[in-house]
Amino acid sequence: MTGPDIPESHPRYESLLTRHRIEEGVDLGITSRQGLIAQGRGEAFDYLLGEETLPSADEAERVAAASLLRADHAVLSVNGNVAALAPGELVELAEATGADLEVNLFNRTEARMERIADHLREHGAEAVKGLDADGRIPGLDHERAKVDADGIGDADVVLVPLEDGDRAEALAEMGKTELVVDLNPLSRSAQSATVPIIDNLIRAVPNMTAHARELADADDEELDAIIERFDAETALAAAERAIREPDDADDS
Ligand code: ATP
Repeated sequence: MTGPDIPESHPRYESLLTRHRIEEGVDLGITSRQGLIAQGRGEAFDYLLGEETLPSADEAERVAAASLLRADHAVLSVNGNVAALAPGELVELAEATGADLEVNLFNRTEARMERIADHLREHGAEAVKGLDADGRIPGLDHERAKVDADGIGDADVVLVPLEDGDRAEALAEMGKTELVVDLNPLSRSAQSATVPIIDNLIRAVPNMTAHARELADADDEELDAIIERFDAETALAAAERAIREPDDADDS
C-alpha cells in the first residue's frame, strides 16, 4: 500500500494515514462511499478516547484472542473499511488463531466482494469465504442476510469489526459469540457484543494477534478462565467514562 506524504513526526500521523487508506480503498473500489462516513464517526470517537488503547480495551482484546483460540469454528468478518485499513493484519490474526476470513458487506455487490477477496489474497490470505452466499442470517432483509453456510453460518465465534448495528444484533440472536471492534461504546453493535472492543481497528487487530501468539500454548482451562472473568458491561462503562470524564477515568 502506498503511503501518503505525511511526516511520521506529524502529531496526527496515524489518523491521517488511516484517512488516506480509506480514501485509497474507495479509489480501489473496495470501500463504499458510506465507508467514508463511518471513518469520520470513528475518528471523532478515537479523538475523544485519546487515540490510544485503553487498558480495558487491551483486556477485551486478550479475551477476544482467547475466544478465537477456544472456538470450534472462528470467522473474521471483513467489510470494505476493514479491508482498506488492515488487510495484512487481518490475515495475520487469522493465521495466529486458525480462523477463517469471510467478506461480509452492508452494501453487497459481487464486484466489490471479488475485489475485497482479491485484496485479501494479495495480502497473503489463502482462502476467503463469502462469495458462495448460500446461508442466511434470520431476521434481516435478503441482501444483508447473505453469508456462507460453512463460514459465518456455521461459526460459533465471529469477529465483526465495524459491523452495522442490525446485523450485529441478528448475529448475537443466533447465539454466536460475537467479538465487536467499534470505537463507539454506545453503538448497538458494541452493546450487543459478547466482547465489545472499544478501540481503533488498526490498533486492535495487531494487539489481538500479539495476545493470541502469547496464549498459543495455553490450555483450555486457562483460556476459559480468561473468557469467564470478562464483563462486557464493565468494559463498555470504562470506555464511556474515558470519553465523558477523561480526567477521572482510571480506565481499569
Ligand atoms: P449502530 O451500531 O449504532 O447502528 P451504525 O451501524 O449506524 O451504528 P456506522 O455509521 O456504520 O454505524 O458507523 C460505523 C461505526 O464504526 C461507528 O460506530 C464508528 O465509531 C466505527 N468505526 C469507524 N472506523 C473505525 C475504526 N477504524 N475502528 C473501530 N471502529 C470504527
